[in-house]
Amino acid sequence: MWAFTIHAPLDARFEQAPTPKPAPQEALVRVHSAAICGTDLEIYQGNMVYFTSGAAHYPVIPGHEWSGEVVQVGSDVHSLHIGDRVVGECTIPCGQCVYCRRGWYNLCANRRETGILNMNGGFAEFVVMPSPFLHHIGELPYDEASMVETTAIAVYAVHQAQVTPGDRVAVLGTGPVGLQAVQAAKAYGARQVVAIGGRPSRRKLAEQYGADVALAADILDFTEQIRRLTDGQCFDAVIEATGNPAVTRKFPLLARPHGRIVMTGLFGGKIGELDLDWLVTSNVILQGSLGSPNVWDETINLMACGKIRSSDLITHRYPLAQAKQALQFMASRPPDLIKMLLTP
Ligand SMILES: [Zn+2]
Ligand SMILES: [Zn+2]
Repeated sequence: MWAFTIHAPLDARFEQAPTPKPAPQEALVRVHSAAICGTDLEIYQGNMVYFTSGAAHYPVIPGHEWSGEVVQVGSDVHSLHIGDRVVGECTIPCGQCVYCRRGWYNLCANRRETGILNMNGGFAEFVVMPSPFLHHIGELPYDEASMVETTAIAVYAVHQAQVTPGDRVAVLGTGPVGLQAVQAAKAYGARQVVAIGGRPSRRKLAEQYGADVALAADILDFTEQIRRLTDGQCFDAVIEATGNPAVTRKFPLLARPHGRIVMTGLFGGKIGELDLDWLVTSNVILQGSLGSPNVWDETINLMACGKIRSSDLITHRYPLAQAKQALQFMASRPPDLIKMLLTP
């Protein structure tokens, strides 16, 4: 098969690779669409933490955000058939450790991660996956389905934040996860969703996606405005999706006493500042949110019924054969780029 293989930092080639064969509990999927993530760029540039720490190894075929069609199933697979339209999860857990047994398989110590950690991914004609981690997408178009992984991260964060119809929710960041979190919070019935940050075009998109209002990040310097915006209450839930450590200083301004702050952004090792006395005396819950366990079918349903949209997030497309050019383009940080798709 044709595949985009990263052999070492900045050494990647579009070349022939062996087509994987499904084991008895696996399925072989023909990839129809694959989205590029910042993680893929980090793997290409050589600064992704699993690779620098020695946990993950080159060569690797990247790509953990993809959709496709089942073309072969192993002898023990009963839930999938040839021709099924599917997406695959990024985290492939061991199923046996203490975390897996409690349903927290995003934390499995023995996990593989598609296209990242000890497993090839979807920047290829075919990818092989254990069948329990493939999900039917019904009629959802393949391009939108390649956004399910990103969307599931936002849906999981909204679960972690326990958003209910009484809640006022702030979403920090208007990247792909932030924009999907705005929609997920609305889908869960949040009474008010305020998106904070990003360029004007992103804020406009956040409002199109259901934010009651989207404000530039400098609102974080104006306590009174935040209070007025929330009837003096501040927010019940805050979803952090910027990865910018400067925002942690602003948490006391945003979260009400007994509020919940859920953090999805990674800070690249940078340390934020947080007022610990405020955290204690306000009974605030600060929660990390890794990956997207147990929310995939729900996410697909929310996308299929239009409660979470994603087609506007797809701003650029490249053929898979030009994956290297696509990564180089992404590295130049073009302002209008939200998500880029590769088509095999
Ligand atoms: Zn990703
Ligand atoms: Zn495990």
